[in-house]
Amino acid sequence: MHQLIDSHCHWDHPRLQNLQPDLWQSCLDQGVTQLIVPATQASHFQRQITLCQLNPHWHLALGLHPYFSHIHSSDHLQLLHQAIVAHKPVAVGEIGLDFSPDMSSKRCTQAEQEVWLLAQLDVAQEYRLPIIVHCRKANDRLAQLLRRHAFAEGGIVHAFSGSQQQAQAFTKQGFKIGFGGTLTYERAQAMQRLAIALPLADIVLETDAPDMPMAGSDRSLPNRPDYLPRVLQQLATLRPESVEQIAKQTYTNTQQVLRLD
Ligand SMILES: [Zn+2]
Repeated sequence: MHQLIDSHCHWDHPRLQNLQPDLWQSCLDQGVTQLIVPATQASHFQRQITLCQLNPHWHLALGLHPYFSHIHSSDHLQLLHQAIVAHKPVAVGEIGLDFSPDMSSKRCTQAEQEVWLLAQLDVAQEYRLPIIVHCRKANDRLAQLLRRHAFAEGGIVHAFSGSQQQAQAFTKQGFKIGFGGTLTYERAQAMQRLAIALPLADIVLETDAPDMPMAGSDRSLPNRPDYLPRVLQQLATLRPESVEQIAKQTYTNTQQVLRLD
């Protein structure tokens, strides 16, 4: 059977940890043999670090998510530096920009988000690490900031939503485009067209578990990394390549961009 990497899974989240150890066994049964575990805030770094030390196939990423811009501090940035040196994450993330309207109610201004983003681009550049990006309604601005920063380490734009042109602005700068459960929705036609139009070499798979439920799943239950084959199947339905070809290439893409062994 093919092997898959879930390139974005909040594995340390209590809603997933409550399902252990059965959930990891189920992942393996489904061919999901590696997970990338991104961070959202500094107060969770330690639980992620402790968890990822348990299994070499659970890969740590550390960063300060734009959702929580109003709680990040310079101490947290310092903690990020220290944790990178001590624990060697595969990426800085998730970091990025979220300009969707509901963010202003959380007092995360765009300017504030950009300060944390730029500070963390410096961090990633310093340690020569790729980044895992969260970007909502801000694709053009993010691509512009990456260009201005001459950011050269690449990474993954997770749960991408935008035009083909915007996706290409990222892939030209060394990024892969992450597709998840949203692709499985019938109404997600623009995203499906994009998933057909992009070269397979630019695509990685993710669940964003426990968030971003798959089509047809019970929304009161957490999304799960062992559902990743559904994203694979959907891509195979849309694209000319076989399930096996897509599995193999997206696995290689994730390994290459995050420099996994
Ligand atoms: Zn996430």
